Amino acid sequence: MRVFEDTYRHKGLRKKLVDLLRSKGITDEKVLTAINNIPRHFFLDSAFDEIAYEDKAFPIGEGQTISQPYTVAYQTQLLQIKPFDKVLEIGTGSIYQSSVLAEMGANVCTIERQKKLYDKTKQFIFKSKYPNIKFFYGDGYEGLPTYAPFDKVIITAGAPFIPPKLIQQLKPGGKMVIPVDEGHHQRMLRITKNADGSTYEEAFENFSFVPMLTGKNG
Ligand code: SAH
Repeated sequence: MRVFEDTYRHKGLRKKLVDLLRSKGITDEKVLTAINNIPRHFFLDSAFDEIAYEDKAFPIGEGQTISQPYTVAYQTQLLQIKPFDKVLEIGTGSIYQSSVLAEMGANVCTIERQKKLYDKTKQFIFKSKYPNIKFFYGDGYEGLPTYAPFDKVIITAGAPFIPPKLIQQLKPGGKMVIPVDEGHHQRMLRITKNADGSTYEEAFENFSFVPMLTGKNG
């Protein structure tokens, strides 16, 4: 059985990663602290132990990837997370992004469409540390109507369009951060829902995500 160890070396590499994220423009100290607190190498196969703190996406099986730390930090910063925010995440993947949100005190509902990745969440190493993460197997385009409305929604796969049901499930005053396809890359958008239900959109940097697919795979 794999032994999970967070050594001084890992901690040192993690601190360097946090410094790198800061130099790339991440300013939210709460986001940087969460990244500094979470052993990213625990979320990857042991083969990645030495490189887990490079600012890169890595494979996690089923053709999917753990997002690049910069991307995780960027999306989380745009969400303006407050403790007890009710957050819906589409694309659980490795659970790393969910853990960053949970570490910041959010209550997270996360949906994964790949059955094999969803099944892995049953052995999540930080289950008792983050009881504020709930896992769902399903199609993110549908959201979670029974748990709605949410303060924040984050999509961690490249969306061909803004899913209308996810806008519906956002609270008035709530924010959604979503990478939307523009051909060969995705543009990061932040959508804020006004009190009257109308929305406004802000556009940020371009990123490269695995696609947000329809239906469940299992
Ligand atoms: N947040 C993840 C990133 C995973 S990559 C992490 O921190 O590791 C994106 C994930 O979105 C993949 O696991 C993929 O299977 C999932 N996905 C893609 N389309 C989806 C959909 N419609 N509903 C739910 N999950 C989806």
